Amino acid sequence: MQSPPVVPYITAHENEPTLLPPVLRRHGPEGPFLGFVDEASYDRDGWGALWTRQALVPAGRRGRPRLERVHALRQRRAMWDALCQVCGKSLGNEDRYLFLMRDAGRPIGERERTTSPPVCVPCARISLEACPHLRKGAVAAWVNDFPVWGVAGVAYDPETLEVIPGDDLVDVRYDSEELRWVVAARRIVSLHGVEPVDLGKLHAA
Ligand SMILES: [Zn+2]
Repeated sequence: MQSPPVVPYITAHENEPTLLPPVLRRHGPEGPFLGFVDEASYDRDGWGALWTRQALVPAGRRGRPRLERVHALRQRRAMWDALCQVCGKSLGNEDRYLFLMRDAGRPIGERERTTSPPVCVPCARISLEACPHLRKGAVAAWVNDFPVWGVAGVAYDPETLEVIPGDDLVDVRYDSEELRWVVAARRIVSLHGVEPVDLGKLHAA
C-alpha cells in the first residue's frame, strides 16, 4: 500500500480561503497608510505590516489541501517560531537550521532572501522525493540565523486604493515606505551564515 501524500504544515486547504477586506486610507504621525475598514489589532504584525486574513481551521475540518497555495499565517508562524514547514514541529533554538529550495541554477547564497521556512532533516528527505517542484532540482543549506527582512504581499495604489495589477506578490522591506501600501501574505527572511549542503549527504545522514 502506498503511504498517503505528505501535506505540508504551511499548505492552505479548500476551507481556508484568503480574504482581502475593504480598505481605506488612514493617517498617522508619519503620513497616510493603508488600513482595513474594520481593522483589528491582530491584522498587523509587530512591525506594523497589515496582513491578509485567512481562516485558521482545525486539522480535521480543513477540506482538501491546495498544494499550490501557502497559508499566510502558518507560513508567518513557521518563520517566526522556527517550525518545520512540512511537519510543523518546532526546530528549537538551534545554532543551525536547514533550508531547502528549488534549484535556481546556483547554490543558496549568503543573505539570500526567501519565503520558504526551514525544514527538519527527515522532512527534507521526504520532500525531495514527494514534492514535484523539488524533484526537478533542489538546493539546500545550513543557516545559522534567519532574521526577518520584510513581507511579500499585494501592493495597493496610494492614490486610488486599488490593487496594483500583477501576477506576483511584491517584496517589501519592513523599514520601507512601500510597507504602508501592502497587504502582506508571506514573511520574508534573510539567510545568514549560509553553508551549502550536498543533497546526497543529506540522504545518507
Ligand atoms: Zn519536519
